[in-house]
Amino acid sequence: MQITDNKDKQKALDLAEESRETEWKYESFVAELFKGSFRWDLVHPFPEQSPEDKAIGDQVLVQLEQDLKAHIDPEQVDRDQAVPKAALQALADKGYFGMKIAKEYGGMGLSVVNYTRAMALVGSWCGSTAVWLSAHQSIGVPQPLKLFGTKAQKEKYLPRLAKGAISAFALTEPDVGSDPARMSTTATLSEDGEHYILNGEKLYITNGPEAELLVVMALTEPKMVHGKPKQQVSAFVLETNSPGFEILNRCQFMGIRGIANGRLKFTNVKIPKENIIGQPGQGLKIAFVTLNAGRLTIPAISAAAGKWCMEVSKQWSNKRVQWGAPIGEHQSVQIKLATMVAETFAMDSVSALTTTFADHESADIRLEAAMAKYFGSERASAIADETLQIRGGRGFETATSLKNRGEEPYAVERLVRDLRINRIIEGTSEIMQLFIAREAMDVHMKFILPLIDRHTSIGNKVMMALRAGLFYVTWYPRLWLPSFTCLQTQHLSCANRCHLRFIARASKKLARRLFHTMAIYQVKLEKEQLLLANFVDIGTDLFAMAASLSQAEHLLASGKASPELQDVVDLFCRQARQRIKTHFRKPCQTPTKLLGKVSTQLLKGKLDWMISGIIKP
Ligand SMILES: Cc1cc2nc3c(=O)[nH]c(=O)nc-3n(C[C@H](O)[C@H](O)[C@H](O)COP(=O)(O)OP(=O)(O)OC[C@H]3O[C@@H](n4cnc5c(N)ncnc54)[C@H](O)[C@@H]3O)c2cc1C
Repeated sequence: MQITDNKDKQKALDLAEESRETEWKYESFVAELFKGSFRWDLVHPFPEQSPEDKAIGDQVLVQLEQDLKAHIDPEQVDRDQAVPKAALQALADKGYFGMKIAKEYGGMGLSVVNYTRAMALVGSWCGSTAVWLSAHQSIGVPQPLKLFGTKAQKEKYLPRLAKGAISAFALTEPDVGSDPARMSTTATLSEDGEHYILNGEKLYITNGPEAELLVVMALTEPKMVHGKPKQQVSAFVLETNSPGFEILNRCQFMGIRGIANGRLKFTNVKIPKENIIGQPGQGLKIAFVTLNAGRLTIPAISAAAGKWCMEVSKQWSNKRVQWGAPIGEHQSVQIKLATMVAETFAMDSVSALTTTFADHESADIRLEAAMAKYFGSERASAIADETLQIRGGRGFETATSLKNRGEEPYAVERLVRDLRINRIIEGTSEIMQLFIAREAMDVHMKFILPLIDRHTSIGNKVMMALRAGLFYVTWYPRLWLPSFTCLQTQHLSCANRCHLRFIARASKKLARRLFHTMAIYQVKLEKEQLLLANFVDIGTDLFAMAASLSQAEHLLASGKASPELQDVVDLFCRQARQRIKTHFRKPCQTPTKLLGKVSTQLLKGKLDWMISGIIKP
């Protein structure tokens, strides 16, 4: 059993490895941070949206707000567990299902920044509606077609998709969530070579039950590698009116209750061979690259949620008087308020920076987008939870109930429920940590993988060892030298300039620790998830600090922010530094072995005696 498990694990790791983008076409700020190089020049001056593009976005946002208020009642959506068909049609008629699709195909042709601004606005009004739009265009058929589709596929599908033919992204299966290596849906080429025949099941497909088009990932003919058959996953566009397509169930959830999501079944569904996206075997790569860009919506929605919470918390903390003072004057509430402000600015900075990078197409954003998703989804959930706490009983009460009693109908409990999913979809937080860690270590893995690969010839191994030696002999000593980075800032306070110097130092320490840890654990490092998560959390906080400081400098210089921003950024950086210091210490202080022991005892049933006095689930 153990042998099979290890084999499965290795298969999953191999497939994930093969499906990653191996090339770094552009520089990445975060990848550099992990190498010990704080490249302030990559994030400063803060990349600004052009005035022309901003004007386009501003216009869309004004209209979108009116349309949302006219057609969507978020409380009713939550209660009825559906966005009314007429409302979806009204949004489609206005072109909101084609915001990201190029104008030549009938879409709005919005930039990534304007698209995410629009999604943030939708998210601040109704989480379910945001998911309808996002599942369709952040990850649904338009996105992989834009990245990998042929001209013919684009001409055939994009105009339909822009008009509101709803689409979905179908990767997950009942037994396949975070680990696509165990995918069982198959697409077999027909005897005449004209069709693929699709069989299998997909689970949790957002928009799936209402979609006209799906992008489906399925196993195709294995290819022979070193004399052994190797699994291949391919991606297809599927018309859901094809015979053999069935909706088995519609799933219901604690939040975003108005989405359409379900379990789909394919029985001998014919897909024309020209509907394959990219090349056979590229399916997982297509899925991962689609998710890399698609992930930018969640950070924008998270920052918007933070702003919404700031407004609700401000109003309530001023108005509500308890124990002789507005609750906002009690220190415990002040801490929540201030942290909310600081983290919201950080989320906004990270999101704005990453989306602008995506538009400029001059940076590799795989790490930045994953960190933005991880950071945004975690922080926004925590902020919404604290807002609920600040609202006390009213935080737990539904907006409809509050309205019935004549109070402000702030839907904080709905926000908490709606945001929770963001830590699970498009890569769980744990998977984001592993993904970020792998990409962060790429500079080292490039040397290590060929050295441990039994298919690499001795000659190549020697060559690689020499190249590694040359690299490390110059790179490693530099990690011990002081930083002489020129940190040009005129508008940041002394405290904030000091935070910049901290990033430069901490980045070197991070690179050293990562390198030493790799040397100690070698191939076993992959199992040390606590260590990897610590490195990722340090890197994420350093990135958020740099993004916040750069955006602050820009906003202060251009007079777009009041001087109070200095304190907001200072607070975020101080709190981040505290966390970073703790993370650097954590590996020695965490009882890792004991944690493993106790969890194994639970899994083996040795602690079943504790699970008594309850009605068991
Ligand atoms: C509302 C909703 C909408 C969704 N929409 C879509 C969609 O449109 N298209 C689509 O294809 N899918 C969709 N999904 C599926 C979603 O992407 C998966 O739920 C998610 O990837 C996690 O997979 P899983 O639920 O199978 O959890 P699992 O993969 O079984 O994970 C369970 C837990 O184990 C942890 N875990 C797993 N592997 C590891 C590891 N190696 N190391 C450490 N921890 C690990 C996870 O982080 C998680 O905490 C949706 C899901 C929901 C609930």
